[in-house]
Amino acid sequence: MSSSRDEIKTTSLIQGHVELFRLMFSHLKSQALRCAGNLGIPGAIHRRGGAATISDIITETGLPQSKLQHLRRLMRVLAVSGVVAASNQPPSSAAESCTGDTIYTLTPVSSLLVGGEGASPFDMSALLRALMRPTTTAMFFHLEEWFRDDTGAESLVHMVHGSSPWTLTKNDTTLNTALNDACVADTNLVMQVVLTEAGDVFRGIGSLVDVGGGHGAAAIAISRAFPQVKCTVLDLPHVISQAPEHSTVQFVAGDMFDFIPPADAIFLKGVMDSFSDEDCVKLLRQCKKAIHRDSAGGKIIIINSVIGFGPQDDVVREAQVLFDLYMMCGNGAEQEEHEWKRIILEAGFSEFKVVATLGLVSVIEVLP
Ligand code: SAH
Repeated sequence: MSSSRDEIKTTSLIQGHVELFRLMFSHLKSQALRCAGNLGIPGAIHRRGGAATISDIITETGLPQSKLQHLRRLMRVLAVSGVVAASNQPPSSAAESCTGDTIYTLTPVSSLLVGGEGASPFDMSALLRALMRPTTTAMFFHLEEWFRDDTGAESLVHMVHGSSPWTLTKNDTTLNTALNDACVADTNLVMQVVLTEAGDVFRGIGSLVDVGGGHGAAAIAISRAFPQVKCTVLDLPHVISQAPEHSTVQFVAGDMFDFIPPADAIFLKGVMDSFSDEDCVKLLRQCKKAIHRDSAGGKIIIINSVIGFGPQDDVVREAQVLFDLYMMCGNGAEQEEHEWKRIILEAGFSEFKVVATLGLVSVIEVLP
C-alpha cells in the first residue's frame, strides 16, 4: 500500500528543495551586488587591468586581510550571479594551489559599476545607490501588510511613508539628489542606445519638451545628436532647482498635470510608469494639448518597458516584471502592449506604435 507521501516523486522533491533555497536567498544576490558596488570591487578589478585575484582585490579596495576568506565567498556569489566572471589559473606552486588562484574579470554588469577614475561613461553606480537604499528595500518588508490593508492606502510608499514618492523627494534632499543622479546615469545609457538604434524617431522635429525630464540628460543627448531640435525640460521645482545650466537646453519648473509648454513633440522617458493608469490618461491629455498639431513631427515619444513585447528571453522578462513590482510601491506600473494601447486610446490618440525594443525598454511613438 502506498501513501500519497510516497507518490510525490523524489525528483520533484529534490527540485523543489533546490529551487526553494535558491529563491529564498535571492535577496542575497542583490545585497552582494550592492556590497560589491559600494566596496568598489568592479573598480578594483578594472584598475588591475580587468583581471584580479582575491589578493589584488583586497589590496586595491584596502579591505583588511582578515576578510580574505570571506571575500572569496562574496566573489563566488557574484560569479554565480554573472556580476563577475571567474576562471581558474593553473597553480604555479604547491602553496598557491591551497590558497586558490581564481582570476575575476568584469562582465557587462560590473563594467557599468566601475566608479571613480576610469569609470565607463555609462557608470550606473548612482542607480545602485538610489534604487537599493536601505529605506527603499525595507519598504518591501511591508508588502504582505499592504496586500492585506483595506483602508485605502494608495500605495506601499503611502502606507509606509505617508506621502507620494514625489512629495518624499521634495522633503528629503538626500533622496532627491540620489534619484536625480540615478536618472541621469540611466538616461545616459538608454539614450546612447536609443539614439544609435532608433534615432530616426527624432527626425523632422523642430521642438521637443522632455516632460519629467529630471536634470535633462535625455534632452542634452537629443540636442547633441539633432542640433536643430529646440529642447526644453519640464520637471518639478525641487528637481529643476538642482539641475546644472546648459547652453542648448531650457529648463522649466512646473507641474505637468497643470501645464506643458507647447512643442512639436513631447518626450516621456521613465515617467509614465511612475503613475496610476488614471493619471497616465490625464498626463497624455495634457501632452495632446501641448503638441503643435499641424507640425510634421507632432507626436509623443515614450521610452518605457512594454512587458513581453519583442524579442524576449527569460532575463529580460524577469527584469521587467521585477521592475514592475518595484514601481508598484509608488502606484506606478510597467505595462503590457494591450495596456499601453488602452491608456493611449483612452487619452484620445489615434495611433500607437512600438518603434523599437532595446532590452528592458521600448521606444513608443504616439500620434494625435
Ligand atoms: N525622465 C527622467 C526622469 C524620470 S523619473 C529619466 O528617465 O531619467 C520621473 C520624473 O518625473 C522625476 O524627475 C520627477 O520629479 C518628475 N515628476 C513627477 N511628477 C511630476 C509632475 N507632476 N510634474 C513634473 N514632473 C514630475
